[in-house]
Amino acid sequence: MSGFETRAIHVGQEPDKETGAVIPPIFLTTTFKQDEVAEMRAGYDYGRAGTPTRTDLESVIASLENAEYGYSFSSGQAAEDAVLRLVDHDAHILIPHDAYGGTFRLVDKIHAPRGMKYTSVSLQDPDAVKAAWQPNTKLIWLETPTNPTLSIVDIEQLAALAHQRSALLVVDNTFATPYLQRPLDLGADIVVHSLTKYIGGHSDATGGFVALNDGELAERTYFQQKAVGAVLAPFDCYLLQRSVKTLGVRMERHCDNAEAVAALLVGHPKISKVLYPGLASHANHDVATKQMSRYGGMVSLLLKGGEEEALNVVKQTKVFTLAESLGAVESLIEHPHRMTHSSAANSPLEVDKSLIRLSVGIETIDDLLADLTQALDGS
Ligand SMILES: *Cc1c(COP(=O)(O)O)cnc(C)c1O
Repeated sequence: MSGFETRAIHVGQEPDKETGAVIPPIFLTTTFKQDEVAEMRAGYDYGRAGTPTRTDLESVIASLENAEYGYSFSSGQAAEDAVLRLVDHDAHILIPHDAYGGTFRLVDKIHAPRGMKYTSVSLQDPDAVKAAWQPNTKLIWLETPTNPTLSIVDIEQLAALAHQRSALLVVDNTFATPYLQRPLDLGADIVVHSLTKYIGGHSDATGGFVALNDGELAERTYFQQKAVGAVLAPFDCYLLQRSVKTLGVRMERHCDNAEAVAALLVGHPKISKVLYPGLASHANHDVATKQMSRYGGMVSLLLKGGEEEALNVVKQTKVFTLAESLGAVESLIEHPHRMTHSSAANSPLEVDKSLIRLSVGIETIDDLLADLTQALDGS
């Protein structure tokens, strides 16, 4: 169909045929009247198997990822779990050494005890990926940009490597969103999302998504959605569909504000390093430019004064709220070592104690810059 924003607003939002309502009603029903007795019914029969409100949401997000098929789940983790079950339970998979903590926990504590083997490896290093390869390696799990160091991994390069060896490439596209990066177009097999973050964008709905083009994998993903039942409620589907309509304008403003924040921080005497893929000084800036249209709303920084100074700064911001999560209209600040990544202490995932992560919101930029300046200068 047409451009990104047009699809974001119109796909899955046909005006109601009976009433003309421009916004389709939320179908709050768990079951559907059947005209005759039939074992396999075309259309809807039971809420867990599907509702019109869920179909609408799935059609728009699949469209934005340029995917043939899309399935929503009750959280990002539920979506990830469905993807991990697409390979044999005793397969070997590769996960990034700096994977999202919840992904690492799901693989390490739920799937590994049931037979899955995994190696965590730096996906930025193709030689390390090849060295970690085993005869039964079936899947590479990739995130880019990563959390919280905002490293960039080359999706095309990893897709080629996976496909030469008959493995699947899965990309967690939560940080970039389909507005900035479309992994399926770059060769990935499966995209997963936490809808809880930018796609939801208002810190009020939890959800997950799987987008893909392969019909057989799609059928198995749908079967799991229905059989396991980690589905989205109709009202959450409605909230998320409402959010998707403004994803493009929100992402533009997130990027504008994050660029301005990164520029401010780069020159600050208390800061030893600013991590933002949009900075020419970023180690993977060229790859980011190749595969993303802009650089996103997340900025991390390291303080010369170490952990103590970092803890002081996160306590002193007033517009940036001290909280976990990311991707919403309001700006958030957090200390990953003690908060989102505390369970990674003494593991390969351990985060530098002087690192602060910002989820730059879409408030007035002058207020954000003034808030960070007062917090840094007062610490
Ligand atoms: C939050 C997040 C998830 C998990 O999503 P939930 O909706 O919290 O279950 C997965 N991957 C990334 C990159 C995330 O930020």
